[in-house]
Amino acid sequence: MAKSGRHFLQIPGPTNVPDRVLRALSKPTIDHRGPEFATLAKEVLSGVKDVFRTSSPVIIYPGSGTGAWEASLVNTLSPGDKVLMFETGHFATLWKDVATKMGLQVDWVTSDWRRGADPAVVYAKLADDGQHAIKAVCVVHNETSTGVVSRIADIRRQIDAARHPALLLVDTISSLGSIEYRHEAWGVDVTVGCSQKGLMLPPGISFNAVSDKALAASKSAKLPRAYWDWEPMLRDNKAGFFPYTPSTNILFGLRESLLMIADEGLDNIVARHERFGRATRAASRAWGLDIVAVNPNEYSGVLTAVMMPEGRDADAFRQIVLERFDMSLGTGLGRLKGKVFRIGHLGDLNDLTLAGTLSGVEMGLKLADVPHKPGGVLVALDMLASESASAKATADKSLAPVS
Ligand SMILES: *Cc1c(COP(=O)(O)O)cnc(C)c1O
Repeated sequence: MAKSGRHFLQIPGPTNVPDRVLRALSKPTIDHRGPEFATLAKEVLSGVKDVFRTSSPVIIYPGSGTGAWEASLVNTLSPGDKVLMFETGHFATLWKDVATKMGLQVDWVTSDWRRGADPAVVYAKLADDGQHAIKAVCVVHNETSTGVVSRIADIRRQIDAARHPALLLVDTISSLGSIEYRHEAWGVDVTVGCSQKGLMLPPGISFNAVSDKALAASKSAKLPRAYWDWEPMLRDNKAGFFPYTPSTNILFGLRESLLMIADEGLDNIVARHERFGRATRAASRAWGLDIVAVNPNEYSGVLTAVMMPEGRDADAFRQIVLERFDMSLGTGLGRLKGKVFRIGHLGDLNDLTLAGTLSGVEMGLKLADVPHKPGGVLVALDMLASESASAKATADKSLAPVS
């Protein structure tokens, strides 16, 4: 049946692409070896640094985030190198699988998928590694399968406190341009990013932001690399070109999304997402449904993973919401399959988009006969109406998790 109105794409990526960006994407493709392209490339290669908050180079790959994960590893490490990784959830597990396939030796810190990488464990592991066998610490900033944020600045402090030379590699695929993040100030060596989440672009390009230390490591790193090699990229990028065909039209879109981000201001964008997170968590608690994240200092502003009551299938609920209200919610991933649904509040959305989203969830809970208390939407609306858009409220702190 034909649907009226817009589909509600409330998954934590790919996110809704704003009309301005869609129009930019629809420009005729140009010669990627011509002067017009060089102007575009120089503009976006420079502009994108602001989103990472860095002055060092950012590499743009035609490829998904998974490719940029691989790039971060093969450019900095050698076969058999030891890396420290944390099982924060599904995406951290996939990054570990890439590392293992590349021939790295992963020291894997397991967890229950409800908390971020523990800075104290980073310290303990590195302080214990007097031989400096660990060459890199790899952390997913916003774990998109759980809605848990790892504290990167604290992790950096612990690496420094242990006086350990390991590189710090961070996946910001679902946090870039939406959660507070500082590549340079936090001393991150490689930041992995992607187009289809906070940057409000379609899938198709991904990033490595690279520190001087990472660049130095790449000179002696021995893992095989061709497509992902930083060196020809950095060389050709200087003149505004790429060693192979770039995603021309997504770069048109990137130029537009960077303008939109600059217009709103990164700090305002971060505050907007934090506010959406608070309102969504308040609604979940009012429904009597627990969320996956357990530590208030690790709550995510970009998505909320809501736990279904025991014995209820989250995907059956999601299907009802899709069929009845034309809204996509995120599925549970990996071991959370069927147990949670994820509400994406990331990218191009406003108070009323979120209000509509939460209304769809509450109506869906009722239609799917999921045991819950009604009224979560009203609690969220009250919060949205009473807080100014830029307020850094601390409402969360007084609210304990349901269980
Ligand atoms: C989406 C996502 C990825 C995967 O990116 P792809 O573009 O699907 O390869 C990796 N890490 C995180 C944290 C993500 O949210």
